[in-house]
Amino acid sequence: MSTLSIYLAIPVVNEIVYYSWLVILALSLVSVLFYFRGKLNEKTIELVNISKEKENFESVFDTDTSFVWEMDKDKKSLSASQGVCKVLKYDEKKYPSLLNLWKECIYPEDLPAFLEFVDELEYRKGKPQEFRILDGEGNVMWLETYVNVVNDLDGQILKFVGTAVNVTHRKLEEQKIRENSYYDQLTSLPNRKMFYRHFREQVQLEEKEMSVIVLDIDRFKVINELYGRESGDKVLEMVAEKLQLLLGEQTFIARESEDEFLILLETANEKRTKLIAEKIMSIFKKPLNIDNQLFYLTISMGISLYPETAQDILALYQQAEIAMYKVKETGKNNYHVFMTDDAASIERKRRIEFGLKEALTRNELYLVYQPKVDLSTGKSYATEALIRWKHPLLGEVSPGEFIPIAEESGIISDIGYWVVYEAIRQNKIWHNAGILLQVAVNVSALQYEDPFFVERIRQTLLHHNMEAKYFIIEITESVMQNAEQSNRVIKELHDLGVQVAIDDFGTGYSSLSVLNNVFIDIVKIDKSFIDGIMTKVNTASLVKTMIQMGKSLKFHIVAEGIETEGQAEFLKENDCSYGQGYLFSKPLRPEEIPAKIA
Ligand code: C2E
Ligand code: MG
Ligand code: MG
Repeated sequence: MSTLSIYLAIPVVNEIVYYSWLVILALSLVSVLFYFRGKLNEKTIELVNISKEKENFESVFDTDTSFVWEMDKDKKSLSASQGVCKVLKYDEKKYPSLLNLWKECIYPEDLPAFLEFVDELEYRKGKPQEFRILDGEGNVMWLETYVNVVNDLDGQILKFVGTAVNVTHRKLEEQKIRENSYYDQLTSLPNRKMFYRHFREQVQLEEKEMSVIVLDIDRFKVINELYGRESGDKVLEMVAEKLQLLLGEQTFIARESEDEFLILLETANEKRTKLIAEKIMSIFKKPLNIDNQLFYLTISMGISLYPETAQDILALYQQAEIAMYKVKETGKNNYHVFMTDDAASIERKRRIEFGLKEALTRNELYLVYQPKVDLSTGKSYATEALIRWKHPLLGEVSPGEFIPIAEESGIISDIGYWVVYEAIRQNKIWHNAGILLQVAVNVSALQYEDPFFVERIRQTLLHHNMEAKYFIIEITESVMQNAEQSNRVIKELHDLGVQVAIDDFGTGYSSLSVLNNVFIDIVKIDKSFIDGIMTKVNTASLVKTMIQMGKSLKFHIVAEGIETEGQAEFLKENDCSYGQGYLFSKPLRPEEIPAKIA
């Protein structure tokens, strides 16, 4: 390049640099503008979002049942969203003096708690306050309010904001639930809690004699087992109705537990209480008819007297229950007024119940056998296995005492199967020794309900290699109440070859004609009839009829509890083929049987 050309080029270069700077400057300006435009847009969006949020916030909380409120940091003024008028049903004009309005319409009893809430706003975050108000239409309403504290950047309180929700519906539901916890759902009677409360109120009202009755349906468990819970429930409902009808509205009746009722007799001394107890017993003389099924119920009642036997309701209840258990132990179907030594007999029952759980594993149970004889020849053809229990402390406890307790506690099933096993095992020993006897066992109604009952008997017979025809099952009449199911089980036993006897016949409610429709083989006439044949003309003719009818229906008739020669003669003359009783033999230990039979 020449010097001239270099010289000439200088202004050209300068020009380029100059324009370049201009371009850079313009570009920078544009980008700064763009930067600020972006920033500006961002800001606008933020503002839009905030107002949207507020809108949403209000629309969420501002409904027919809720509103938002705001209180200044000095707690002097209160404002709220528009919803407040809808919720409180107050005129909008009153809105500016909301704080006063609230104070005015809050239930006087709830005002102190509300004012305390306002005092403590800064600490009440997450701890709502409930209070009642009287709304603009004069209705009581429950409001629940939550608070939140709004602070500035330095952490200083700016204001308080909160929500208030109408929770009346929920409160009413809660109240219903609370009330339900005082009433029994099935019978609509008050429950024990309510009974106690009522008693305490009565005691405070005036000094008067009162009595507490605990009423329990006998063997209710069996009704449930035999007919199902639904029928059981209907029985309870009907019992409740009958009690209410008899005792009237002024008598406080409650349902304590499943089949136990409580009755409070006010202004009633012992004499009047007993009179009423008799009346209650009389309701149950007739059977209850439920869906054309007759239920023969009996009840046991225990009574305690205020202020005579105790002053406190808990003690009175306990005493009445002890008295009721006393009735259960002594044959049920009665009432009893608590006496001090009753408590000891209850203690005995508890020991028996507790001891039964161990009795099987500790080998405390054993069987004795009472021969059944052919009255015409006097020869034994069978034995009845009868259970015995030697309690380590109480000594011999009779089955009459412990079997009902075993039934109540459910342990009867294990005991029952043990009896079946043991009786068949023993009978096999006699068979092996050439003594061919049948053996009969008593089976509780509850055990009869076990779906595996027949199968377990079949297995046990198989196990001992014993023919079914040598095995008899004795059931009580209560089993026959559910004839359809009983018949099915009895038929299964028949098919197996086992014989079925109705025990204690005449003490229950079935008639011989009912038994005609069932696969029963043997009818055992209860001892109470045999006791009367020599002394009571009516009983004698009744027994004669039983024998004749039974025979015509092809039943084997066995007379139970024969104690005298006279009774045996009468029975023989009147065609009763079989008998059992102390006259022939008391129940014996197995080792005594061969000598007795020979
Ligand atoms: P049950 O089956 O009617 O048995 C007859 C009861 O009468 C037996 O009383 C027997 O000892 C008694 N007895 C027999 N002959 C006479 C007599 O001539 N005079 C008198 N006064 N009594 C006589 P026990 O052994 O005390 O049994 C009472 C009840 O206990 C039995 O009545 C039966 O219902 C039940 N029981 C006995 N063993 C068992 C068992 O293994 N399982 C079940 N579930 N119940 C049983
Ligand atoms: Mg028996
Ligand atoms: Mg009997």
